[in-house]
Amino acid sequence: MGYAEVSVNSPVAQRQTFSYAIPSGLSIEVGQAVWIPFGDKLLQGIVLELTDYPSVEETREIAGIIEPRPLLSLSRVLLARWISEYYLSPLFNAVALMLPPGFERKALTYISTPQAPTEHDISSLTEEQKHVLRLVQRQGKVNLKQIEKALGFRQARLITAQLLRQGLVVKSYELERVKAKPKKVRHLLLAVKASEALEEAAKLREQGKATGQACLLKLLSQTTQPVPLSEARRRANCSTSVVQAIVSKGLAEIKEIEVRREPISYRGITPSEPLPLTNHQSLALKAISSSLLQMTTNSTSPNVFLLHGVTGSGKTEVYLQVLAEAVKLGKRGIVLVPEIALTPQTIERFAARFPHKVAVLHSKLSLGEQFDEWQRIRNGEFEVVIGSRSAIFAPQPDLGLIVIDEEHEWTYKQQDKSPRYQARDVALKLAELTGAVVILGSATPDVETFYHAQRGDYHLLQLPERVVPNEGSPLPKVEIVDLREELKAGNRSIFSRSLSQATAKATANNEQVILFLNRRGGATFIQCRNCGFVLGCKRCEVALTYHFDEDTLVCHQCNYRMPVPQTCPRCLSRRIKFLGIGTQKLEQEAGYSFPRARLLRWDSDATRGKGSHQTMLNKFRAHEADILIGTQMIAKGLDLPLVTLVGVVNADISLNLPDFRAGERTFQLISQVVGRAGRGTLGGQVIIQTYSPEYYAIQAAAKHNYTLFYQQEINYRHELCNPPFTHLARLVYSHTNDALCQREAERMRQRLSEEIESQGIDNLSLIGPAPAFIHKLRGRFRWQLILRGTEPSAFLSQIPIPPGWVVDIDPLGLT
Ligand code: ADP
Ligand code: ZN
Ligand code: ZN
Repeated sequence: MGYAEVSVNSPVAQRQTFSYAIPSGLSIEVGQAVWIPFGDKLLQGIVLELTDYPSVEETREIAGIIEPRPLLSLSRVLLARWISEYYLSPLFNAVALMLPPGFERKALTYISTPQAPTEHDISSLTEEQKHVLRLVQRQGKVNLKQIEKALGFRQARLITAQLLRQGLVVKSYELERVKAKPKKVRHLLLAVKASEALEEAAKLREQGKATGQACLLKLLSQTTQPVPLSEARRRANCSTSVVQAIVSKGLAEIKEIEVRREPISYRGITPSEPLPLTNHQSLALKAISSSLLQMTTNSTSPNVFLLHGVTGSGKTEVYLQVLAEAVKLGKRGIVLVPEIALTPQTIERFAARFPHKVAVLHSKLSLGEQFDEWQRIRNGEFEVVIGSRSAIFAPQPDLGLIVIDEEHEWTYKQQDKSPRYQARDVALKLAELTGAVVILGSATPDVETFYHAQRGDYHLLQLPERVVPNEGSPLPKVEIVDLREELKAGNRSIFSRSLSQATAKATANNEQVILFLNRRGGATFIQCRNCGFVLGCKRCEVALTYHFDEDTLVCHQCNYRMPVPQTCPRCLSRRIKFLGIGTQKLEQEAGYSFPRARLLRWDSDATRGKGSHQTMLNKFRAHEADILIGTQMIAKGLDLPLVTLVGVVNADISLNLPDFRAGERTFQLISQVVGRAGRGTLGGQVIIQTYSPEYYAIQAAAKHNYTLFYQQEINYRHELCNPPFTHLARLVYSHTNDALCQREAERMRQRLSEEIESQGIDNLSLIGPAPAFIHKLRGRFRWQLILRGTEPSAFLSQIPIPPGWVVDIDPLGLT
């Protein structure tokens, strides 16, 4: 007898699999979905492994098969295991990432007659038993619920159990009501030959009656394909009764036909041809193509390329051509984009190059659409799947290429629920398991990615220049405005003189302006309006956060506290201010300063619901507004040729987040904004307003110089032992009682430090506990602990984490 290790869909299963015996006659494969008895319930499980021996003495049997075809390939099974182990998440949560949408449902029990009915003497049965048996025989298959309704729960269970024991009926399980049914549409087609239909139509016409029917018959005779009923009615301009008339005459019939939901509309997309590449592009293509040719699954390190190039340097064209190479080799690809709603142009370009071979997966699709796409992807109908972070789990067969565009984006990390995975790291793991080649593309690579490229873990490919199709559009001019000087000159507006003049001039010339303000979170920091000094923690070098409730400044990393000073510690000025202006306030101010300009605010408050990004973008592109005001959302891949001026209203906001990635964040944001300007032929200008004009990240971004930034940043990371030199794990405890929260956090610290000591681990350190950056969230207080070292995940995996704690491995930030 064989056994299966099954990942069970139950919260108590945690990171474990359970052993089940495989009943004889049932053929079970790895990756298959099965029903298994668990306690007194019947649950869903996925078979992760087949074994000759069970891992426990007593096993129960697998109750049935949910779907005959395995849902997960072997590589995805291994990937799920890795995710669960590394991110310390329940195993089924990791498995569920790879299941078809709408899969998680309850089992329905059916009673039916056996396939080979045996001769039985049923005279000994009770009347009720006979009654149930007859019902089953009559209907072939009966839902157990139906019998329960008729006889009552206990009686129904008792009787069916007796019938089952005698082999008179058998039991099977099916998924509860399918939430995402294939879409069926009523179609109309001829039931007679086309010539007959035309004859009939001519006859009706001659008689001068029933012109509707004649019209409809003519329409149907023009095609051998069934026509959707609604379309037929619209084209023949006829009513339902006309349709009924020809159906009842036996001339046509109505059929339910399964149709595909098409999430991409190919209407208006003209197929495109590969462009002749620039030198840099073709070097990149050659390097990646040769690696595609040598793809192997048995190497332990995947083939990873970092394609580093500014916006407009032709990265997407390289992705397209590498993908074409992969397709030639019989392979397929997955392309991840940071946020699908913001990348319609990228999707269109793939759709134009690979017509009808592009699948789009993202959470805004209806469940039905997601279900359809998943099935079609698994059937190998697409050459490429495009989607946001979860598209990495698409069941794309023959995977040869994974592209992660804008690989530095934070949206690739799932933060809000378990598994808290980083799609980029998952992609690297998947590539290792499948032999696929990975391209990480960015204008501002993540410092950790670049570090790996420098070390030779990844191949570094550079596209140093913008592709300039029609001369013009060089990188824009960047001006840094020192806000301290503005104050000295008596300008108290949030617009510097420079930004104010440039905005007025651009709008007067009928050009467009983007004003950018990145405000995140509710807490605020304190800055001297005279010298720009921001109060920071002496121990952690991160900005202190002001807590309104206690009127205190707090370090969110180590819990250092101090009262709000009356004067600036650096210049002794009394003009110490709380900073925290948002986009709404900015809109108001812009209204006063530029009364003639039409304003459009674009932030997450202004864009809710499907399609509103696109609406907003179309509006602005159609020049229905002069000034676009927004958060970091507007800094993403948009092509806006009329924009000639971009203003960064306060570059210091991301810079002062209490986080070691603040410098990197600032650099990325400013670089992206700079990349927005001057993509058209009009050229462009960028004005950055800051209190810290000498700050390395701002300086480097203004000079379009990634290397300059990277060199500084990697030194800081090294000095302070931050990633990529270490890994972090963040543990957050939340509770309605703040004091209790703090005590629990201190207890955990105690526990962990004892463990570190007793195991003699010397490369792990504990930071905190301290209140989380958002100390109180939805009525609950939050305290956090940071574990920093070589392998915090491996260390934590052996420690039972009490309920109430959330563990985040490789957290994005410490805020
Ligand atoms: P990125 O992805 O780096 O932003 P794109 O691939 O979108 O760059 O290229 C920017 C623009 O240049 C696009 O309009 C694209 O069609 C065009 N382009 C890219 N490569 C070439 C090329 N080899 N020849 C001509 N135009 C190109
Ligand atoms: Zn000062
Ligand atoms: Zn500190």
